[in-house]
Amino acid sequence: MEIRRRKHWGWGFEDQQPSTAELSAWAPGLAHLGIALGEVEAPVGLEQLELAPPRVLVPPALAEICASDDHERASHALGKSYADVVRGFRGRFEHPPDFVARPREEAELARVLEWCSDQRVAAIPYGGGSSVVGGVTAEVAPSYNGAISIDLGSLDRVLEVDAVSRAARIQGGALGPGLEAQLATHGLTLRHFPQSFEFSTLGGWIATRAAGHFATVWTHIEDLVESVRAITPAGAWASRRLPGSGAGVSPDRMLAGSEGTLGVITEAWLRVQPRPSHRRSAGVHFHTFLGGAECVRAISQSGLNPANCRLLDAGEARITMAGDGARALLVLGFESTDHPVDSQMARALEICAEHGGVVPERGERSGADAVSSWRQAFLAAPFVRDAFVAMGVLSETFETAITWERLPGFHERVSAAAQEAVRAACGAAGQVLCRFTHVYPDGAAPYFTVLAGARRGEEIEQWAAIKQVVSDVILAEGGTITHHHAVGRDHRPWYDRQRPEPFAEALRGAKAAVDPRGIMNPGVLIDPLP
Ligand SMILES: Cc1cc2nc3c(=O)[nH]c(=O)nc-3n(C[C@H](O)[C@H](O)[C@H](O)COP(=O)(O)OP(=O)(O)OC[C@H]3O[C@@H](n4cnc5c(N)ncnc54)[C@H](O)[C@@H]3O)c2cc1C
Repeated sequence: MEIRRRKHWGWGFEDQQPSTAELSAWAPGLAHLGIALGEVEAPVGLEQLELAPPRVLVPPALAEICASDDHERASHALGKSYADVVRGFRGRFEHPPDFVARPREEAELARVLEWCSDQRVAAIPYGGGSSVVGGVTAEVAPSYNGAISIDLGSLDRVLEVDAVSRAARIQGGALGPGLEAQLATHGLTLRHFPQSFEFSTLGGWIATRAAGHFATVWTHIEDLVESVRAITPAGAWASRRLPGSGAGVSPDRMLAGSEGTLGVITEAWLRVQPRPSHRRSAGVHFHTFLGGAECVRAISQSGLNPANCRLLDAGEARITMAGDGARALLVLGFESTDHPVDSQMARALEICAEHGGVVPERGERSGADAVSSWRQAFLAAPFVRDAFVAMGVLSETFETAITWERLPGFHERVSAAAQEAVRAACGAAGQVLCRFTHVYPDGAAPYFTVLAGARRGEEIEQWAAIKQVVSDVILAEGGTITHHHAVGRDHRPWYDRQRPEPFAEALRGAKAAVDPRGIMNPGVLIDPLP
């Protein structure tokens, strides 16, 4: 049987990479970006890679579940940030794991962790590898004898469904589509759809506190988690299934966002629901982004709780072919399994009208068209980004959150700093676009996209210069270094400044208790105690 392999350097499967000729043919269609595109380049092939030899060899007792061929090592060496994709594209795999372990059950996983502890080899949990913050990179201190990647892909099943309480027990390595397909046989859905849905896993979502489909109320995955089970070097960490509990610090919430530093999440009970049978969506135009933001604030404080409430600035609406480039666009959606949602949509549209929002007339490009264009662009974006790397377009995002009363000044200063940093690093043609991914009664999560001309071979330095500026200004203006992309290795300098120091001490102590030899993903989130 032919096995469909993931690309060793970017998004998707090997057979999904367009040829250089195809990319060259598409290039004229990207004129609307206003960026001078370069010659289309080809990625460095797997057979041309020269990976550093492994520092540790697969132990015979684990041989059945481990592999150390070039494809396995390269495809687990990097996440999927822009810099990672550039590195992979150019064949720069500087920190490949020594080998990749694929445990098929918890007992095998425990044996892998035991071996890592004994040998002082770093253990890096790997879900879908879609980290955009250096979360899966095997770059560890020289005091480690090596580093291995633990791919959870074999733990991919929905194990149990409780139709009464509407919950499902799902293994940590289940990818989005596989998880949804298994739930669908029970007429159920998790409806956690991050943009990386196709190639990210339940364990990865929980470990990074990923944010998905719902723009209000259940924004982060932990809102859907009922209980979690993890294997740590010190043993199993499992919580009770409860609809709510006030019994001290939550063991589930402590694993959520632990980014592989405490243990490996092997399964969790998740709150699921029947597929929604009532849906309404609309696109509403606003003259300005901040005018639209005032409306979004009113909607998010109204108790209507739309499932989708994504405000795109004019540039973002144009790039996604959802708007005309002159006006901001609000993509609004309601859904329910139980009752029609027309009245909620009607009230939300009234609020939009009260704030100057305009629903396109019949004959004009309709709101539904705009919503559909936005959805298509949203789904295609990860593939497009790989093509951009080949064409010499710098394309990356950064995200944060801020309370409403600070939003206007925050948006202005972060956007201005980003524009200036992009101009300095890439020249005048660069663009900084913004949308809200999630909104709360007390604030919003602005998400910025940077598109600019890349200087071949210097893309990583160009982006690093921009990222440094925008991260500094986000922190100085009181925002968070991440709303849902996690901390990883890349956000550490700013996370270390953002978190309270006594909390950092508490986290180090907790890590020392469950991971006494400090093997779990060192360098991510928090440093192990010496
Ligand atoms: C194109 C694109 C779009 C994205 N869109 C979104 C989005 O809409 N919302 C969002 O929140 N994020 C998004 N991300 C970021 C990323 O997809 C999320 O962080 C996701 O949760 C990572 O899941 P994963 O399975 O790929 O984890 P990985 O990338 O494999 O790992 C991420 C981190 O979690 C740890 N980890 C993974 N599995 C486990 C486990 N079972 N137990 C313990 N630790 C584990 C790893 O060690 C690492 O530190 C996007 C990324 C890309 C490239």
